[in-house]
Amino acid sequence: MTSTPRRTTSALAAGLAGSLLVGLLGGSSVAAPRETLFPGQGNAGYQVRAYDVSIDYQPTTNRAIATVRIRAVARTALRSFHLDFDGARVTSVVVDGQPARSTREGTELVVTPSAVVDAGRFSVTVSYDGRPPEVVDADGSTEGWVRTTDGAIAINEPVGAMSWLPSNNTPGDKARFTYRLSAPAGYSAVANGELVGTAPHGTGTTWTWRQEEPMSTFLAVVGFGRYDVVESSVTSVDGRRLPLWFFEDSLVGASERAREVLPEVIAFCEELFGPYPFSSGGHVVDDAYVGYALETQGRPFYPPDGADTSTVVHETAHQWFGNSVTLTDWHDIWLAEGFATYAEWMWSGARGGRTPQEHFEALYSRDADDDLWSPAPVRFTDPADLFGEPVYARGAMTLHALRREIGTRDFLDLARRWAADFAYDNVRTRDLERLAEKVSGEQLDELFDDWLRRDGKPRGY
Ligand SMILES: [Zn+2]
Repeated sequence: MTSTPRRTTSALAAGLAGSLLVGLLGGSSVAAPRETLFPGQGNAGYQVRAYDVSIDYQPTTNRAIATVRIRAVARTALRSFHLDFDGARVTSVVVDGQPARSTREGTELVVTPSAVVDAGRFSVTVSYDGRPPEVVDADGSTEGWVRTTDGAIAINEPVGAMSWLPSNNTPGDKARFTYRLSAPAGYSAVANGELVGTAPHGTGTTWTWRQEEPMSTFLAVVGFGRYDVVESSVTSVDGRRLPLWFFEDSLVGASERAREVLPEVIAFCEELFGPYPFSSGGHVVDDAYVGYALETQGRPFYPPDGADTSTVVHETAHQWFGNSVTLTDWHDIWLAEGFATYAEWMWSGARGGRTPQEHFEALYSRDADDDLWSPAPVRFTDPADLFGEPVYARGAMTLHALRREIGTRDFLDLARRWAADFAYDNVRTRDLERLAEKVSGEQLDELFDDWLRRDGKPRGY
């Protein structure tokens, strides 16, 4: 994510406070790691393998008639289970082909199958009909199903997917996605992954998109509108042809530069971090005035005037750091934002602008009472601090301090191995610390404690 100046109303999303997450046979607890910033999101009793999302959308009324089929694996027998969902009226729930009961509890859809689901594979299909809501975040920004002049765009970091996608809405549960998006004549529909095909649907069209590489729900994107569609391609460093799809709202404009610079940015990132991790790229530019760009997987979202080159570098670097290598717990978001911000610094240094060292020095010269220094990047407790300056700027400074400690060669080796060893996986900060010590052969706890865990300005750097 890249923020333009953010609003700071304190609309702490009370609905996120969670209840019990999963009904387990015998009441035993499941030893799956819990996400701790949004404890109401995510469900430990099962792991999703695939989402098959069909949405028939009417742009003029914002009505979505949707069916979401989830294929999942139960970790244990389930008498009932929860999906994260705070969207429109549910019209039916089916588990393994049998009608199931469901109730709404806050942001949860509680599903009780007609028979206990045994451990192992099962499927659940949820249908709903109505207007998906927007979600207001703790920092006052808007996500979820966001209305535009000519349709809607679903952008979902951190928890907005619950507004339109019944799901296990936690970063640690990655799955494959298929989207079948139907829109009236004159409209088009975009999502993550590759365009499999289009087919007539009434007087309009169904667009089928498939995201084969695993994806966390917060990285999903769905857009309906009167887009200008541009297709091109780029060849990755390992010789793959990557199709690029650009969906651009003609009302917004100014996205041509972002489109044209993308192949160069991908090449720049590949040289530093290794092969592009996904099978396609592009972007979505829409008139959603949310105040941020977002690294939605393979196809970032840009708001009006939000696609300057530095932002394109940031969102592209996220494809490695954040999207392929993904945090497990939101407290570790600096792993995504620190790397993406540092990639911006490397780009500017390589293009004759400020070097990473100059970025670091400019920030380090700030007073000890500056907001940059507290809370330390992994120490925040308020969801409103999720996209704060300590996460981004101090996160990037952490990487620069590390680079100065272990040297540029080991640092770049670390970045590449981080992207390769944990590709498509979920990670925690300690995974990076261990790998950094392994690559450099140095003891680094002091440095990571100084930069990531101690509030206040780190001394002696
Ligand atoms: Zn970001």
